Amino acid sequence: MFLEINNLTKKYEDKYAIKDISFSLDKGKFLCLLGPSGSGKSTILHSIGGFIKYEGDIILDGENLNKLSPEDRNVSTVFQSFGLFPHKSVKDNVSYGLKFHQKNLTKKQKENEVYSIIEKVGLKGYENKYPDELSGGEKQRVALARSLVIKPSLLLMDEPLSSLDRKLRESMQKEIRNIQKEFNITTVFVTHDQKEAFVMADEIIILKDGKISAMGKSDNLYNNPKNKFTLDFLGDKNIIGDFYVRPENIKIGNSGEEFVVKDMIFYGEVIELHIENANHKLKALILNRNLDIKIGDKVKAEYQLEKIS
Ligand code: ADP
Repeated sequence: MFLEINNLTKKYEDKYAIKDISFSLDKGKFLCLLGPSGSGKSTILHSIGGFIKYEGDIILDGENLNKLSPEDRNVSTVFQSFGLFPHKSVKDNVSYGLKFHQKNLTKKQKENEVYSIIEKVGLKGYENKYPDELSGGEKQRVALARSLVIKPSLLLMDEPLSSLDRKLRESMQKEIRNIQKEFNITTVFVTHDQKEAFVMADEIIILKDGKISAMGKSDNLYNNPKNKFTLDFLGDKNIIGDFYVRPENIKIGNSGEEFVVKDMIFYGEVIELHIENANHKLKALILNRNLDIKIGDKVKAEYQLEKIS
């Protein structure tokens, strides 16, 4: 495996921030560390980057990184705050990293690298602008370009999109993913946003209280949650005893159990129906398509309950 993490543990005084975290990742894959605030995501990322001391082993491309300083690890990090130099132009911000890496390149080669990477992140023409002339999304691209220009073996990203508004955030998610695929760069990305993880990741690790709660591919984690925390954290659900059903898996139609519609919440493309009968209160999610249902109507619903494991 390209990246191997074995028994990674970090303790602050007598409290574990993370404990016995082990996982591995193939080259070129995009991994999301997903979990609520305080679950240990940043601690894992900062350990890999070498910014904090830890116990356990971090092995990248066959090399144990434990004893290496952040500068000596072939790892680049994009932080939430971008970390750009305000008095340097886009070009100089991006080329800064090359001062310490890729020392064997000539000045001209370095300049070519910088211009090429600026173009790849969609900032051609912005080379001589300064950070305060850029939007949040553009600053994020500069930070990404600066990380990529040194051609790291591993890219770390710590909630890099959290300061952007929703629309920009959604388009940056896809762009970062495309750039990651184009560079085939192995990436570990921290987020607390389930949808962001679904859009971006090849693999997801769900963290809870400093431990791995579940890991796998998005659809498998969502469709076959291995525990209640994963079920809870990824999307909505109805729970009936030891069983559950996702709202979108309740089929409203001409057959099944009879319910009364108690409430309807409009989300645009979908509508959440709150339906109730003597036995159950359920949430169902239906597409907003030729909908002929209103509050107080009787509807029929078909659904299959899955066991919570
Ligand atoms: P996340 O990134 O998921 O929000 P963190 O990795 O930042 O979580 O934190 C994990 C746990 O470690 C939390 O309980 C947090 O309070 C604790 N922690 C993180 N950094 C420190 C620190 N410098 N000193 C003491 N406790 C810390």
